[in-house]
Amino acid sequence: MQPVAIITGGSFGIGKAIVEKLLNKNYRVFNLDIVHSDLGEHRQCDVSQVEQVRQTIQSIVEETGRVDALISNAGKHLSATIENTDEATLDSLFALNVKGAYAGIQAVLPAMKAQHDGKIVLISSDQALVGKPNSFAYNLSKHALASMAKTTALDYAQYNIRANAVCPGTIETPLFHNAIDRYCTQSGADKTEVVAEEAALQPLGRLGQPNEVAALVAFLLSDDAAFITGSLQTIDGGYTAR
Ligand code: NAD
Repeated sequence: MQPVAIITGGSFGIGKAIVEKLLNKNYRVFNLDIVHSDLGEHRQCDVSQVEQVRQTIQSIVEETGRVDALISNAGKHLSATIENTDEATLDSLFALNVKGAYAGIQAVLPAMKAQHDGKIVLISSDQALVGKPNSFAYNLSKHALASMAKTTALDYAQYNIRANAVCPGTIETPLFHNAIDRYCTQSGADKTEVVAEEAALQPLGRLGQPNEVAALVAFLLSDDAAFITGSLQTIDGGYTAR
């Protein structure tokens, strides 16, 4: 039977690489994103809206009769200290980064429990393990996802459902380039130099690539990872080992 995977934010960046990888592994892949993509089966869905996520996933499960994997990936970045983060901005970031994942997990659990099988991967960040300056709300949201992987793993192990968090370091995606562009616009810094400095910050001396994260996700979804649940999997060129 062809396995069914649901991913959020699969149109660009890490999510797009995961869609490509899972299609190559013969998954039927549904991509919930606000931006259309021809890869896999796109479903227009604003993941920051809990009810939209619920209804979209319910309709997919009604169509397919099953869901083998959920990859909760959609997220946005914010550079700001706690003083510079107003409540509306905090709520908006949490609506996507945290409540989107909460809604997705809730929506897939009935089918996964009935199947007595399911795999959930939450795309967190190296910021679930370390603090970074000027990153109050984003860091908080990524710690929340690590927590969600652990508590989901414990509550649903009895149903043979595994939940893990992937914690990427600096990966070269549109999110990364947009964040660098904003920084350079504010500070007047040169983008080439800033990107080189970012690469030099990583012990392996380079940025990560989306396909490298996708390979880890595919492993976590596979039977080779059958005893891995509740874990935080770093993929960061050694950044958090320091
Ligand atoms: P990206 O900005 O390049 O891509 C994000 C994707 O999410 C896009 O397809 C976008 O259209 C979609 N999206 C945005 N808002 C959405 C919404 N409201 N509803 C549905 N879809 C929406 O980001 P990325 O760098 O590929 O990051 C993906 C995930 O990985 C994020 O959760 C991010 O926090 C995490 N992450 C990224 C890095 C990095 O260095 N790039 C590092 C650690 C963690």
